[in-house]
Amino acid sequence: MSLIEGMGSSGELDAAALARLVRSAGRRFGGEAAEAARDALRRVRPRARRPGARVLRIAYGRINQETNAFSPVLTTLEDFRETHFFEGDDLAEKCRWLGTEAPGFARNAELSGFVAGAIAAAEARGVELELVPLLSAWAVPSGPLTRACFDELTARMGEKLRDAGPLDGVYLALHGAMGVADLPLPDSEGPESEMLRRLREVVGNEVPIGVTLDLHGNVTKALVERVQIIQGYRTNPHRDHADVGARVGRLLVRTAIGEITPRISWRSLPMLLGGSPTLDFWPPMRSIFRRMDELEADDPRVLAVTVMTVHPWNAHRELGWSTLVVTDDARETGERHAEELADRCWAVRDALPPNFAGPSEAIAAARAAPLRKLRFAVFADASDVVSAGAPGENTALLRALLEEGKGLVAYVPLRDPSLVAELWRDHRVGERVEVTVGGKLDPRRNAPLTVTAEIVRMPQAHGIGRMVVLHVDDVYLLLVEGPALAIRPAFYRNAGLRMRDVDILVVKNFFPFLLFFAPYARLVRFVRTRGVTDFDVANELAFAGPVHPKDHVDDWHAADARRRALGGSASQRAPRSAVSA
Ligand SMILES: [Zn+2]
Repeated sequence: MSLIEGMGSSGELDAAALARLVRSAGRRFGGEAAEAARDALRRVRPRARRPGARVLRIAYGRINQETNAFSPVLTTLEDFRETHFFEGDDLAEKCRWLGTEAPGFARNAELSGFVAGAIAAAEARGVELELVPLLSAWAVPSGPLTRACFDELTARMGEKLRDAGPLDGVYLALHGAMGVADLPLPDSEGPESEMLRRLREVVGNEVPIGVTLDLHGNVTKALVERVQIIQGYRTNPHRDHADVGARVGRLLVRTAIGEITPRISWRSLPMLLGGSPTLDFWPPMRSIFRRMDELEADDPRVLAVTVMTVHPWNAHRELGWSTLVVTDDARETGERHAEELADRCWAVRDALPPNFAGPSEAIAAARAAPLRKLRFAVFADASDVVSAGAPGENTALLRALLEEGKGLVAYVPLRDPSLVAELWRDHRVGERVEVTVGGKLDPRRNAPLTVTAEIVRMPQAHGIGRMVVLHVDDVYLLLVEGPALAIRPAFYRNAGLRMRDVDILVVKNFFPFLLFFAPYARLVRFVRTRGVTDFDVANELAFAGPVHPKDHVDDWHAADARRRALGGSASQRAPRSAVSA
């Protein structure tokens, strides 16, 4: 099964296929809700309170990280502080129109979308609304959070909620694939549900809570029971952060004034991969995403539909795809739709991701491809994808480019914090050095490599920290101190490298780079070396039962019934009734 049309089973993609892909993605960019959110954000102004009017108070915040259980690089509070950490008024300012919610990543994401959506819904209903900013903490995908980091973030969010006073609703932007070291939990729980258990102790069980999740999150029974609204991203690669926030903003306002009574229907599939690359705008998943739109458009009682295709490197014994349907008190409808979507997902389980080619084959293809001005080959280092939690220090592709890529100018990002620190301390631009790069953060999987190089630049970048650009033969090596997603041309330009000088550019990413590099890429290769983001590494995880494609599974219903009944009772707790204004 090919990854996408125009792409062979080993992961090659030519310029025409890339152009088709980008055109298809464009059709799903934004969406109505995002437009409404942008409109509302433009109009956000402090308003005078009408005397005696009932003021609706809804708090909002974020704790978000995607964990790769195989990475030994643990995530600490410092990693959140260096990437994205805002509280109170500072957070509110970031979430206003013309604010930048996530510097270096996105101008508007879930929280500014939420603010806009909630304000628009309240204005339309003539309700006075006070939004209470809590805490927003976001870290780059990596290894599990330390227990201390998880406890500290959750406790801080709890304090903010306590300080917020009486609330009519809470919105949290979560991921769903967070992992925590030394946090033993029953199979019915995950770190996000444990976080919600602790926060429920602060706000009680009566306040409606709405959450958004990354569509790579894992849904657990406890999570479904502790919140009233769940909305996952509806795009992959993700580009609807603000849109999903706006949706939950509207739904929470409607819930808080008693206009709707959200009920969640959920199905869990014993399935990890499948759906090929799970792009929302491309077969085989396109028809499923269209069906989700239809279900919402056809029935006003269907409030939020989600399909979760799960992060396959998340250690959870009940890991798998999920379908979620939130209805306005229409349980039977929700169950029917969740079941139908689960069947549709199960039907694409055999469309597995391809086996990617090795470096030699990719380099030979780049050499053979017709040269065009301003166009180059892009290699995705598929075994070392930083945006899926890999350390970013795998030298296998670098080694192959040095040995087999003579005459081809290559840009290669590589994370090596200790070497960057040493070079910044003891050396200067223009010096020649002999250094050993990579293989320090996860020495079990990554091998160090010794090179003689010239230091050509020593820049800095937000969230990445200090960098050193080394020139070795035809390779420009971008040594980074922190996790570099290396997704956009800007990352390379910030390091002083020009798009017109390169033949092979290496990214540490699976999909978003396709959109950003579309104008430049004359061919794309997903290159397999060996690392924590290889698809088959997920087979090493421990599961509670058989899981496709590792095991043969005939029917998804047995695993689903077990997962939804974990902890005793087979029925879900009846959601609380809506708060009345
Ligand atoms: Zn994701």
